[in-house]
Amino acid sequence: MTADGADDNALLSVRDLRTHIDTGDGQLHAVDGVSFDVAAGETVCLVGESGSGKSVTCESITGLVPSPPVDVVGGSATFDGEPLLGRSDRELRAVRGDRIAHVFQNPQRALDPVYTVGEQVAEPVRIHGTRTEEAPRDRAIELLRRVGIPRASERVDDYPHEFSGGMQQRVAIAIALAADPDLVIADEPTTAVDVTVQARLIDLFRELTDDGTALLLVTHDLRVTASLADRVLVMYGGTILERGPVGDVFSTPAHPYTQALFGSYGERQESDTVRPARGDVPTDGCRFRRECPHVVDACAGGDQPAFHAVEDDPTHVASCVHYAPDGDPSAIRAAAATSSPTAASSSRASSSSKTESSPDRVQSSDPTRADDTRPGVDTDE
Ligand code: SF4
Repeated sequence: MTADGADDNALLSVRDLRTHIDTGDGQLHAVDGVSFDVAAGETVCLVGESGSGKSVTCESITGLVPSPPVDVVGGSATFDGEPLLGRSDRELRAVRGDRIAHVFQNPQRALDPVYTVGEQVAEPVRIHGTRTEEAPRDRAIELLRRVGIPRASERVDDYPHEFSGGMQQRVAIAIALAADPDLVIADEPTTAVDVTVQARLIDLFRELTDDGTALLLVTHDLRVTASLADRVLVMYGGTILERGPVGDVFSTPAHPYTQALFGSYGERQESDTVRPARGDVPTDGCRFRRECPHVVDACAGGDQPAFHAVEDDPTHVASCVHYAPDGDPSAIRAAAATSSPTAASSSRASSSSKTESSPDRVQSSDPTRADDTRPGVDTDE
């Protein structure tokens, strides 16, 4: 890890990414100077409220934003040493179908109603091949089974409209994984499925990263984050405000926004709604200053405050003036204990591994795993 937080071994490296949306009324800074890395075999979770810029960040990286009105106006994205931004649609399509796979929040973006699900899962295998020698149809059936489609060998010949929304989401995941991508970018892949299927998908993603696939996961579900993430990036107002190993961020949420996000998690689960973050977000100074209980004069004007180490650990950093060498974060630190999702067992949270504690870490569907409750049974047929 370098001084600016860059990972020397990164498979995906994003620097100062900026994407603007022409709203007709002006330019919305949807992504505003975002930098991060994802290494092979690593899971990085982008968390934040709806409208914080998570999805636009992901789709900007591989040229999926509709331009106009959405335009990548600055920064860089490098995959396996090769630049992604500025490449032609044809070149990007080749990379997306082969080495980088997207799972969209809306599965219908990935599904064609006139082809069977089996034909659609098998198509990337036919075009790009896989690490195994499986026949495309056999590979499609195996993937449908792995994502939890019951009677996969029969349902492989069904059409998307014959599947529920949750099952369409699983088919979209199977299509994304068909060509053995090196990087999976998954946008809320577990939102439309029940908890049993969610556990199955989490097992599947763990198997992928165990085999060396990199995973960039967008989610507002802290339980999924606790179950899967190696590192967490907390986004608000188009920019990253805190980043660090999942155990550290969960046990010691350092940025006032992270504390607010974690503190409201239980309420949001109950109401099943997510408060949109965008709206009156300032375009200079700290983007969170209009809602921050610790705001001071130094928070206004200039750029988003620099990242500072939270507790002498350069891997866990927060973009807040109070963590600067001459600042005093004691009031913010005091609030961390009450907002931490893992406060009750923070001493168990490791700085180098996925957190083993609350919030209600998703139970594995694999009976061999220590946190298992039951084998996966599909209830979304
Ligand atoms: S920089 Fe200022 S406004 Fe931003 S989080 Fe820190 S104290 Fe709050």
